[in-house]
Amino acid sequence: MKTSDVTELYRQYILPTYAKVPVCLTRGKGSVVWDLEGRQYIDFFPGWGVSGLGHCHPEVVHAIKDQARKMLHISNNFYNVKQARLAEAINRVAFPSRVFFCNSGAEASEAAVKYARRFGKDTGRYEIISMRQSFHGRTLAGIAVTGQEKVQKGFEPLPSGFCYAILNDLDSVQKALTEKTVGIFLEPIQGEGGIHAASDSFMKGLRKLCDEKGLLLIVDEVQTGMGRTGKMFAYQHYGIEPDLMTLAKSLGNGVPIGALVVHNKIQREVLVAGTHGSTYGGNPLVAAAGLAVFKAIQKGKLITRANEMGDYLGRGLENLKARYPSLVKEVRGMALMRALALNGPGAAIVDRAREKGLLLNCTQESVLRIMPALTIPKKLLDRGLAILGQCLAEEV
Ligand code: PLP
Repeated sequence: MKTSDVTELYRQYILPTYAKVPVCLTRGKGSVVWDLEGRQYIDFFPGWGVSGLGHCHPEVVHAIKDQARKMLHISNNFYNVKQARLAEAINRVAFPSRVFFCNSGAEASEAAVKYARRFGKDTGRYEIISMRQSFHGRTLAGIAVTGQEKVQKGFEPLPSGFCYAILNDLDSVQKALTEKTVGIFLEPIQGEGGIHAASDSFMKGLRKLCDEKGLLLIVDEVQTGMGRTGKMFAYQHYGIEPDLMTLAKSLGNGVPIGALVVHNKIQREVLVAGTHGSTYGGNPLVAAAGLAVFKAIQKGKLITRANEMGDYLGRGLENLKARYPSLVKEVRGMALMRALALNGPGAAIVDRAREKGLLLNCTQESVLRIMPALTIPKKLLDRGLAILGQCLAEEV
């Protein structure tokens, strides 16, 4: 089979919901992937931020194989050792909490919205304030809480009860508050929105506001979680704890998993039997993978590594900015969640980079998003940066 055969099958049988590049990836190891024709690529954006430990991490593969031999799936009516252990592992590194498992980031957002609505039910509160330029997933509640018209367009009427404030502008949050507000929902670093971090004063201000008004602070760590920003979870940079946290992506390093993590300080039982559920959520297979991810992060000291490699990457990107000031506006982000904000469109650079063997992502049309695996070897970072440098040189 050739890539052209696969693209033809897609043309016939797959709904065209994604902008495609003409590459069919078939194999990956660490930060390298290969296509159907055997071409090799350095992956600076593995699986849209999913493969935080790199492709086919041996410990995750081993855990999946081992679990697959014993039990793939059971319903959530039964107890499941791996799910319990995974929730315990999240607890150890986050805040004291209990967890609901689902299958994706969008489902984790849904669960958080449903949680907030039931939390506010008795007091008639249901409105959620989220941030413009945010991204929280593609379900109806997911796009309603997402502060970008382009993902909402055409799907109206959207669920009601959502309004938007401006990241790092506390006044805009105050203005959006009503007596019906139940929670504030945000990514500590907006990913799809172009790598914009919440400022320290903003996050602390939100925490204070939520405490004063009895609101839920809901932090979406789907993209920022699991060590990517140099702490296990990005909220830990701010010296605050959220009330709810959502996780997905690199929690499973490639298996579909999401989670809603609820702080134990919320004493009331909000989501009880019969109020929410998922057939697959946290099944033994995905939970085994998630557990292996936690073990691998700890064993490989990958958070320290994310900081070291992140600094190195940041310096490399600053260097590119210094060399190509007409093209590069700004370097943004933390640790291994970085962006090169360009003065013009980035799609052609992404295409050129891919032709030269480097995969990266462009978001918001002009922001090159670079989120390599926490395990990426320095020499691959160097090679990737060199390719990016060549692409920029060809652009001037
Ligand atoms: N939240 C954030 C911050 C995301 O970046 C994404 C996906 O990119 C989602 C939620 C939705 O996750 P999923 O695509 O797994 O539904």
